[in-house]
Amino acid sequence: MSQSSETNAVRTHRCGEINTHLVGSAVTVAGWAARIRNMGGLVFVDLRDRYGVVQVVCEGGQPLELARDFRLECVLQVHGTVRARPEGMANAEKATGAVEIVAGQIVILNGCAPLPFQVDQAQEASEELRLKHRYIHLRHPVMVHNLAVRHRAAMAARNFLASRDFLEVETPLLIKTTPEGARDYVVPSRIHHGQFYALPQSPQLYKQILMASGVDRYFQLARCLRDEDLRKDRQPEHTQIDLEMSFVNEFDIYAIVEEMVARIFAEACGIDLPTPFPRIAYDDAMNLYGSDKPDLRFGCPMHTLDDLAPGCGFSVFEDAVAKGGTVRCLRAPGLGGWSRKQVDELEDLAKKHGAHGLARTKVTATGLDGGIAKFLSAGFQEALTQRLGLQDGDLLLAVAGPWDKAVASLGAVRLEVARLAGWIPEGTWALAWVRNFPLFERTSDGQGWTACHHMFTLPRPEDIAGLESNPGAARAQLYDLVCNGVELGSGSIRIHQRELQERVFRIAGMEPEEYLGKFGFFLDALGYGAPPHGGIALGLDRVVMLLTGSPSLREVIAFPKTTLAASPLDGSPGHISDAQLRELNLAITPPASEGTTT
Ligand code: ASP
Repeated sequence: MSQSSETNAVRTHRCGEINTHLVGSAVTVAGWAARIRNMGGLVFVDLRDRYGVVQVVCEGGQPLELARDFRLECVLQVHGTVRARPEGMANAEKATGAVEIVAGQIVILNGCAPLPFQVDQAQEASEELRLKHRYIHLRHPVMVHNLAVRHRAAMAARNFLASRDFLEVETPLLIKTTPEGARDYVVPSRIHHGQFYALPQSPQLYKQILMASGVDRYFQLARCLRDEDLRKDRQPEHTQIDLEMSFVNEFDIYAIVEEMVARIFAEACGIDLPTPFPRIAYDDAMNLYGSDKPDLRFGCPMHTLDDLAPGCGFSVFEDAVAKGGTVRCLRAPGLGGWSRKQVDELEDLAKKHGAHGLARTKVTATGLDGGIAKFLSAGFQEALTQRLGLQDGDLLLAVAGPWDKAVASLGAVRLEVARLAGWIPEGTWALAWVRNFPLFERTSDGQGWTACHHMFTLPRPEDIAGLESNPGAARAQLYDLVCNGVELGSGSIRIHQRELQERVFRIAGMEPEEYLGKFGFFLDALGYGAPPHGGIALGLDRVVMLLTGSPSLREVIAFPKTTLAASPLDGSPGHISDAQLRELNLAITPPASEGTTT
């Protein structure tokens, strides 16, 4: 068996494919030495490729001699014979566990330097080290699985959309700007001195221009780049399943997306998703679950006590409602026995989300007991019992204060209670549309208005006339798809008429000079006969993270960045040469703080 012969295959089989049907056959496999057990007169090597692991036995001759010097993760080609493992040695947990390959000859295709971490111990290595040597981590079967699920999800989306007449169109990477609420990454132009391209935060403007072009149905697995402030699980680049359709209403979009998502779940992971997905209004999501991405795998909605609070006897409740705030309450069945310490920890969580405190009491056979019970009038207790259907053993938790803080903090408590109480069923998928969002929200300084999603979203028809007089009251034709408390994507029916788009720009605080400078080309496209249209973008990384049950986006992206937006693998971002800087007419100056300290 000579490796130099052009007719000899480098491998005849994949490691993961060796099975009992091949017993007695001569095979050639190749892969990485994942585990080496030297028993003296015998060396066992677990040989790994993308398809699995097979046990190679070196019993004598050249293989045994060579095997004594194998290093973990060296690359081997093994010519050998498949045999059944001896009685009692079979490993039913492994696909190849009933067989082994007796090596006849081994070729070391490549050595391996001392490892910074072992493949199966990658999780114990620091993030920095794991990302620096990403190719080692990617050999881990979990990472192989994640990449495969991602591939299948992307293929399912592509094939489905193609079958529904969507055209895959690539939109440019070097553009002016597409505002999605983050900072742009910018690229200096060599030819246009002093000018910069932006990298797209999304293909939003281009996909809308494609609708003006008559493309009718567009999609793209689009890379989106956003220079956002650092947060734990954020990536500067992410991939969206981005689509846009002409002559549709929001329910047409739901129907297509539901079918697509069901196909993705089925083809990527064999999960059967019931459709259509439930729909919930934004106000209900906030009032019942305290979140615009409610986790609907379990119930336990919040209740309002605003109508009962006046005269209830507990001044915190009475004052909150008197000041225009709210009292929200959560009934946690069967958790009345939780300790004071446990509830104190929930209170800390509520405070982190803006609550002043977390009122508590429990339900016993004889009525409310402990916590705030002593303050509450008999009438209030009676009304509460009726409204919430209270039962012996319940724990009651409540927050009083301004509406936004009360619902958000009790919503966070709801999630934590469910997690601690084990109410969240594993392996279930609760998808839902959240719709009817407000069009605008207040800017952080409280002075102006900013679009809740982006500025291209169509208001509801009945809200268009009064947009300028009361922007905060306008509702948008805007929808989010959520799954298990995670936002999978956002979309909207778009403004397709120039005049309305200019009005929205102005409400968002832009003067004509500014919006014509930034978006004049886009307004022109609307003005030349853009059809009514709408679309959505789903985060592919998030979908795959959910499907694989991964703890972080970094586990489902082949080459992710750190939370500092750096890549330890290639050392980016990095400096560029003086020659490149000269070509670009750029000069690097020290940051202001450095400059002033010298
Ligand atoms: N461009 C939007 C985003 O990136 C999605 C959409 O409205 O289609 O969130």
